[in-house]
Amino acid sequence: MSSTRAGSNRFLRLLHYARRYLPAAIIAVIMAAGVGLFDAFRVLLVGPIFDNVLHPGGIPHKKISLIPSEFGHFHLHLTLQQLVPSGLHNDWNMVAYALVISTLLKGICSYAGTYLASYAGFGTITDLRDDLYEIILRRSVSFFQKHTTGTLLSALVTDIERVQLAMSTVLSGFLQQFFTLVAMTALVIVLGGELAWILVIFIPLVFISMRRIGRGVRKSTRKGQDKLAEIQNILHETITGNRIVKAFNMESWELVRFRAAARRLLSANMRTVSTQSVSSPLMDLIGAVAIALLLKLGHIAINHHQMKPGQFMALIVALFKLYDPVRRFAVYYNNFQQAVGSSQAIFDFIDDEEHVVEKPDAVALTQFHDSIVLDHVGFHYSDEEGVKEALQDVDLTIRRGEVIALVGPSGAGKSTLVSLIPRFFDVTSGRVLIDGHDLRDVTLASLRHQIATVTQETILFNDTVRNNIAYGQPDVNHERILEAAKAALAHNFIEQMPDGYNTVIGEKGFRLSGGERQRLAIARAILKNAPILILDEATSALDAESESLVQTALANLMQDRTSIVIAHRLSTVRRADRIAVIEAGRITAIGSHEELLLTSPTYQKLYKLQFMNIEPTKVPDLPVSEAAE
Ligand code: ADP
Repeated sequence: MSSTRAGSNRFLRLLHYARRYLPAAIIAVIMAAGVGLFDAFRVLLVGPIFDNVLHPGGIPHKKISLIPSEFGHFHLHLTLQQLVPSGLHNDWNMVAYALVISTLLKGICSYAGTYLASYAGFGTITDLRDDLYEIILRRSVSFFQKHTTGTLLSALVTDIERVQLAMSTVLSGFLQQFFTLVAMTALVIVLGGELAWILVIFIPLVFISMRRIGRGVRKSTRKGQDKLAEIQNILHETITGNRIVKAFNMESWELVRFRAAARRLLSANMRTVSTQSVSSPLMDLIGAVAIALLLKLGHIAINHHQMKPGQFMALIVALFKLYDPVRRFAVYYNNFQQAVGSSQAIFDFIDDEEHVVEKPDAVALTQFHDSIVLDHVGFHYSDEEGVKEALQDVDLTIRRGEVIALVGPSGAGKSTLVSLIPRFFDVTSGRVLIDGHDLRDVTLASLRHQIATVTQETILFNDTVRNNIAYGQPDVNHERILEAAKAALAHNFIEQMPDGYNTVIGEKGFRLSGGERQRLAIARAILKNAPILILDEATSALDAESESLVQTALANLMQDRTSIVIAHRLSTVRRADRIAVIEAGRITAIGSHEELLLTSPTYQKLYKLQFMNIEPTKVPDLPVSEAAE
């Protein structure tokens, strides 16, 4: 019961998105009604075709009755003469004219109705997708840790697609079929009179079998979707993890896994088909029984001159036309169910609780000039599995212009600490201050404007070198980009690329070495020219030459900035003003390299195990870094 209510709530929310397209939707409904009306009119023409045009004894210039007034309680009387221009009053002319014009009008209504209903549907979905993307894009980091890329993509692509199908194609089809159903039911009642009541006994039969089939289809479709998701998972894993598959010679194993999943999908699909395909013959059978019964009764009615043969034919055609909507409603119902189900995933993301929220009265942070203070900072990650303590009681003051290196074993909390400064997460206790402002009191944009980040993993977009360096500053002039690239020692290799600064790089673009990618990231940070720098040094060693280029580029970047560096290189810790040793979420020692070598056993151990090993054979003394010191 509650799930039905939730379902209808979601449907209402979907409709709420459609409000901008209300005029289009209203016209679409009118057009759909037109389709039903003109279709019914065409069925009415079957009578005159039989009784007047084809009937050998048809008397010309007699009034051609479409709806017999003498039937039942209905005192409707509609003749073709009322509808067709008076110049055309001969039987064939009138029927031909009426047939062609009504078909044309039905066609226009059908086209306009489908177009407008689809416009309303696609428009609604476009707005919903835009909203969902904006909401996802602006979510805080914890949101992206909670939801995998696969589920987010699936919401943005597959779920939206399913809702789109229901809101556009299915909705427009449903409207037209609905009005066809109404019009044909009316016709059957008007034309059939008492005969129509015999059909009432078939209604429960049709209803029950449709429901049964519908339920079966829904179940098997859902199974099919699960199987499809299974296939997508295998594809995702083996395409992104292609190197591992190769390295472990797992191709055959993966093939077996894939083929088994594909076969499961096949059998799920076939189950849907076998349930769905029962519907059409079953409806035909029920129809045939109904018509056979009607034939018997019709025969009597015609013999008693209660009905003309043409009228009886029109009744049978109207009955046939009734099936189509009834048959399709099961499919539409199924599609709507899927759409409402899929919209749940979409609305769940939209409703997901936000962790990092900007206060309404947040102030803009001015240019950084004094210090960053971590005051009794504590932080824990919380997810479904529970709470994970990452930082405890961290006190640290970083003054403007300082270089602070963070060192410590893996998992100690270094990345967590630096991610608190751009407020990727909020502290769970204590506070972080920049120039005396609690980060939670300032605007996110002004805070992040002060900070440039160079991470281990260089993220390059599928765009030109120029746009990758100028990411976030599309209007910057070319000279500044050149300067930044030169300072990052990237200019030379960029010049050697096929199109220089216009070469497209990124996932599928130009191949770059690790060192080159790092220098592009450094150029990006130099161009951003933010006063605070957060640097997560790559752990993997580059060859000596690349290493020295990256180190020089970094020295240029760090010049005149306040830097917080997660350090893995001896040269970096040597260049730092102070080194903070972090262990199990706490700062256990702080001081210069020489001091820590004497006082901190952890630092001594790290020095021996980590810095010595990763260091390239020779780090040249660099003029720029000396200048910086
Ligand atoms: P470091 O950078 O020093 O290697 P991290 O800051 O990445 O350490 O991690 C600190 C601790 O927090 C580790 O125990 C790690 O397992 C945990 N952790 C890191 N990220 C998450 C997360 N998203 N969810 C839960 N625990 C996390």
